[in-house]
Amino acid sequence: MTKLIVADAGANRAPGGGESSPGARRTAGFGRLMRPIRAVLLDIDGVPTVSWRPVPGAIKARARLRADGYAVALVTNTTSRDRPWMTATLTRAGFGVDAAEIFTAPAITVLGGAGPDFSCAALNRVFGYLPEGARLVAMGRNPAFFATAPASLGADPSQAVMVGDDIEADVLGAQRHGLTGVLVRTGKCRPESLRDAPGAPDHVIGSIADLPALLERLGPL
Ligand SMILES: [Mg+2]
Repeated sequence: MTKLIVADAGANRAPGGGESSPGARRTAGFGRLMRPIRAVLLDIDGVPTVSWRPVPGAIKARARLRADGYAVALVTNTTSRDRPWMTATLTRAGFGVDAAEIFTAPAITVLGGAGPDFSCAALNRVFGYLPEGARLVAMGRNPAFFATAPASLGADPSQAVMVGDDIEADVLGAQRHGLTGVLVRTGKCRPESLRDAPGAPDHVIGSIADLPALLERLGPL
């Protein structure tokens, strides 16, 4: 079985439905279909939560998405928390999640993060896997998520939406893999984020509370 080694490389206001970005088509890939959307990936830190506390309207919005039939996953590139901790924390925050709904980079790695296990001996061991066919990817840049998460939810990348607060790592990264990229103005997003970014999101919304209306506008399942 091929191992996947992941190195930690780090990790327009529109209430009521969002707005399409005029520059999106220049950067969002070629010929991507915008509908039907079937899967929704939510960047945990900055979209449903900020510092693990619910964004206003987030619990209701996630419930609405699930009730509408979308496959919803919570994703994160953090390497400092494991899925049991996140499951318990998000459940205490009111989201009531199952561990299987949380996609983390460490869950698909043989070594990640810079904790006490990140030693020269450990690096030597995992780099020894490379000649055997293991892949080395940058976890903080999210490539593993965007390449595998839509399929895990039963969707083609063109049927998946990535919602994030980091325009480059979350939104533009997802667009490069064929997903629809949606930027929220919560979390780390700042007014200059859009101005200074090398590309444009497909859509920008105020917060996750606006996501159900945006998806409804994009078209039925
Ligand atoms: Mg984030």
